[in-house]
Amino acid sequence: MAFKTITQLFDLQNKTAIVSGGSMGIGRSIVDRLSEAGAAVVIADIDIERGEQTKKEFTEKGRKVEFIATDVSNLEDIDKAINRSIEKYGILDILVNNAGIFPFMPAMNMTEPVWKRVLDINLKGTFFFSQKAAQKMIEKGKNGKIINIASIDAFHPTGNLAHYDASKGGVVMMTRSLALEWGKYGILVNAIAPGGIQTPGATQSSAEMIKASGMKPEQVADMGKAFTARIPLGRQGEPDEIATVALFLASEAAKYITGETIIVDGGYLLS
Ligand code: NAP
Repeated sequence: MAFKTITQLFDLQNKTAIVSGGSMGIGRSIVDRLSEAGAAVVIADIDIERGEQTKKEFTEKGRKVEFIATDVSNLEDIDKAINRSIEKYGILDILVNNAGIFPFMPAMNMTEPVWKRVLDINLKGTFFFSQKAAQKMIEKGKNGKIINIASIDAFHPTGNLAHYDASKGGVVMMTRSLALEWGKYGILVNAIAPGGIQTPGATQSSAEMIKASGMKPEQVADMGKAFTARIPLGRQGEPDEIATVALFLASEAAKYITGETIIVDGGYLLS
């Protein structure tokens, strides 16, 4: 096997990636790092206005970034995103299943529509995006990388998130199952389990928690402080601290790792 320099290992030129939910938060940072490394990146996000705006901001910086309106819970949308990416760039090398929602809801108040929406986006969307991407990767006879964004909630419940925790636990196990089945095609499937990361979605979910639980804003703020106090590194993470791990998994530096979930939580789960 030819020895590669560090620059060569992290060079993603001539690679194409799709990042679901890539118009804000963690997904946006992943788009930033993969496109900085030279990849053509397709943002597959449900928010059309923000998706177009994000594409514009990156293309103005000279990056190869496209946007395709996609609801990952809709199989036709997934097909469209993959087919249009391949029409444009000829190949799909990297898929990052990042789109996910985390509406707080006590288990006692759970409704079928909320349960279904969370599982459809977080688990079903991740599965079928992976399946359809893998089919194209195999068709093109090329290796591929699939990176799933799970959560520390797959290992430790936060509270009022049973539906979310079930979906992310599923993502971690599904990552291992797909890695086992698709290793023979040269498709590597890994996951990242972020801890508390400062994103617009996380801010919004604190607001939702106030509504759903009937808690006072001060109580929710205290919960946030208690959460942060448990983190050995003493702070919550930034989206780029997940994106750099995604870059590693997408790169040639990670070519003998599959089925793994990398926990990126500042040590939270240790405490
Ligand atoms: P975010 O700030 O809410 O951004 C998520 C993006 O995905 C948004 O643009 C959102 O659009 C989009 N999206 C939502 N539903 C979609 C769908 N059906 N199809 C396509 N796109 C969709 O979220 P984030 O905090 O960056 O989280 C990203 C991922 O990391 C999620 O899977 C989440 O579970 C995971 N995670 C986050 C944290 C954290 O602390 N932030 C911790 C652990 C794991 P809308 O705004 O229109 O919904």
